[in-house]
Amino acid sequence: MVIVLTSILAIIVIAFILGVRSKDLPEPEPESPFHHLDERKAAIYENLRDLQFEYRVGKLSDDDYQVSKRDLQKELAVVLAEVDKLKAQLSQNGAVPPPQPAPQPQQPLVAAARICPSCGAKFDRELKFCGECGKAMKAAR
Ligand SMILES: [Zn+2]
Repeated sequence: MVIVLTSILAIIVIAFILGVRSKDLPEPEPESPFHHLDERKAAIYENLRDLQFEYRVGKLSDDDYQVSKRDLQKELAVVLAEVDKLKAQLSQNGAVPPPQPAPQPQQPLVAAARICPSCGAKFDRELKFCGECGKAMKAAR
């Protein structure tokens, strides 16, 4: 009897600890905002199929079928509208291009030093003498 009670108590304690632990665990990230909407959509489509089947085999009256079908289609329209809304939100967030700075010559002084004051030839690096005309590049500064 004592052994039975002890093991029951142990099971309760373990279950309690496990229960608390699983609550402490962070919620898993939602896979996709579309996921649950897709599931709802799929469920509605399935209901529509079932409904059509039941109507065809004669389980439903014409009126019942029409009413149920209209309800499901309304529900479907709501879900589709939510999908559209979500898509619009996501594309708004995603489509905003990062602000692009206008292309500007950086460090104009260095750039000036790379342009020959005598002939105007441009070079990608600073030179003491112009590669085109051979005159001193820094003479004009
Ligand atoms: Zn030059």
